[in-house]
Amino acid sequence: MSLLEISSYAAGDWVKPGAGARNIASAVTGATIASAGNDDLDVQAMLDHARKVGGPALRKLTFHDRARMLKALATELGKHKDALYDLSFHTGATQSDHMIDIDGGIGTMFVFASKGRREMPDGHVYLDGDVEQLSRTGSFLGQHICTPLQGVAVHINAFNFPVWGMLEKLAPTLLAGVPAIVKPATATCYVTELAVKIMLDSGILPEGALQLVSGGIGDMLNRLDCQDVVSFTGSANTALKLRNTPAIVENSVRFVAEQDSLNASILGPDAAPGTPEFDLFIKEVSREMTAKAGQKCTAVRRIIAPEAQVQAVIEALSARLAKVVIGDPRLETTRMGALVSGSQKRDVLEKAALIGTEAKRVFGDPENFAVEGADAEQGAFVPPMLFHCEDPDTAVHVHDTEAFGPVSTVMGYRDLDHAIALANRGQGSLVASVITHDPAVARAVALGSGAFHGRLYFNNRDSMKESTGHGSPLPHMVHGGPGRAGGGEELGGVRGVKHYMQRTAIQGSPDILSAIGDKWVPGGTEIAAPAHPFTRKYGELSIGETLHTAPRTVTLDDIEHFAHFTGDTFYAHMDDAAAKRNPFFPGRVAHGYLLLSFAAGLFVQPDEGPVLANTGLDGLRFMKPVSAGDSIKVRLTVKKKTPRNEEYGEVRWHVTLTNQDDELVAEYELLTMNAF
Ligand code: NDP
Repeated sequence: MSLLEISSYAAGDWVKPGAGARNIASAVTGATIASAGNDDLDVQAMLDHARKVGGPALRKLTFHDRARMLKALATELGKHKDALYDLSFHTGATQSDHMIDIDGGIGTMFVFASKGRREMPDGHVYLDGDVEQLSRTGSFLGQHICTPLQGVAVHINAFNFPVWGMLEKLAPTLLAGVPAIVKPATATCYVTELAVKIMLDSGILPEGALQLVSGGIGDMLNRLDCQDVVSFTGSANTALKLRNTPAIVENSVRFVAEQDSLNASILGPDAAPGTPEFDLFIKEVSREMTAKAGQKCTAVRRIIAPEAQVQAVIEALSARLAKVVIGDPRLETTRMGALVSGSQKRDVLEKAALIGTEAKRVFGDPENFAVEGADAEQGAFVPPMLFHCEDPDTAVHVHDTEAFGPVSTVMGYRDLDHAIALANRGQGSLVASVITHDPAVARAVALGSGAFHGRLYFNNRDSMKESTGHGSPLPHMVHGGPGRAGGGEELGGVRGVKHYMQRTAIQGSPDILSAIGDKWVPGGTEIAAPAHPFTRKYGELSIGETLHTAPRTVTLDDIEHFAHFTGDTFYAHMDDAAAKRNPFFPGRVAHGYLLLSFAAGLFVQPDEGPVLANTGLDGLRFMKPVSAGDSIKVRLTVKKKTPRNEEYGEVRWHVTLTNQDDELVAEYELLTMNAF
């Protein structure tokens, strides 16, 4: 294979390696396969290009436009998976590792595309929470909104996931409307470069939305300001150095870090050998030790088991690890490939040796292990190494040294409080798992350990068939952790998008809030409908368009009829004396559902028309009981519109029912699908 020249993509041009370029070796053979880096990269031009070209172009698009863009990018990457797999073998990763990195990254992008369409508006402002009542009559209200930051997101990624690591940050960034400059770790940047090329060549992205630094980033971070974000994954030492960059400190630049983590897995006190949970624990831990050769930020580093089960755990894990075939990742029989580089191998062995000062190695010998189809000396291979720490209370390194490879330490606990204390000795981690069938154990760990972990993963016989694995960060759930893990948070659905937006508290009148949020706020000006709103197509309806119905009197016959027709003969509707004894009712009252049905009867326009379906009802509240002889009328207002596909969109109507004294009887939001 000829030497690959890994370029950067800067201000619209591909820039080849130049002065200061670094050589990159294959993890499997140790041979140099690529070079990357150029000291002459114009980082200021890159920042300007993102801020002046990429940002404005992205901000013109709505959240839905950007979500569609993500879906198209993910689809495009999916078409080129084989080329990405092919390059990725050089990183030491096996085909199943590629599924985590490449397929996992693409899947993450699809989830954000879908969440953007379903959970965010087809507009430019994201409303964060409900309207806050700040005044007695409702003429002055509050609302939190999120708008995209007007700078650039600089993503600095670790070597272990050259594709997922980029896409899990890029998807929420682009969805927010912020351009990104991606800087992958040099050791595996050739895979990231190909993924970036695929995305750029597709022409799906506006110019300036995505740039790439292969190699060093120069002094880019010292040129950032308050509208920029740094999202970093890597070692705690680098994170500490970078977050202290003067411009980052002085300009309060957001710095999200995901760094070292001594993740734990706890075997529940109930999960003795012979239970499905014990077998599950062994399977999960051995998978977490060996997937990506242990180079996963979420890998299990500490195995916390009841003292009585420690020996059984060591034996069962050793038996399973003994079956792991180590070798050339391209071979179908290989279960664990190589570490990313020779220097990473040295680092892992040094750290394993440090752990070895406090714990005994009970499985795996780095001096003596078999490698299939590759040279153990040339490639960065190590065997899985299992340690046993007999005194985890006085030990230090087992709780603070992350050997970023297939290295894990078993430690025993006396009781659940001890297990929780040991888990928390990691001083903040990305994930801890608990394998238990006892909900009380799960609750005790959640309360005792939740504050120390970004994610708690519980698994047992009931969930094991469909569970996603201790080590898999999911786009729906937050990824990040306190303390040693960096104190950051990524993913978590729309939460992850908000990291690239500014939350602003908006205060003003209902009309001001309606105009900013593109959503009618109660108290805002009503627009008289030119025709019955049910006769008007999706595109014809305006936000604020309102229908007031005629009143309808509710009779005792109506209540009787509804009760016997539906079978709802609850005493409050049937027995005047019993209803009077209830503090909520003046006597017999109409059913709430009768009122809703009457409301529909009042506002519905019956002819075939653009309203296709009633798809739901949100936030229903009954405020005042209605007795026989009272009358009700309805106000129906277009609150919000969200397109769903090419043919129809969702209309959210604000509905109020009031009585003859204009008192509020009921309030809710009605959802319909309306044709374009
Ligand atoms: P590093 O912290 O060395 O590198 C992480 C990223 O930071 C890389 O992209 C690197 O680029 C970049 N970087 C390093 N120095 C600078 C700088 N001065 N300015 C700008 N960018 C910089 O981590 P590695 O990826 O080499 O991994 C080392 C260790 O980190 C692992 O052994 C492991 O312990 C830990 N780690 C933890 C992870 C976690 O999530 N828990 C994930 C990955 C690693 P470049 O490659 O060009 O130097």
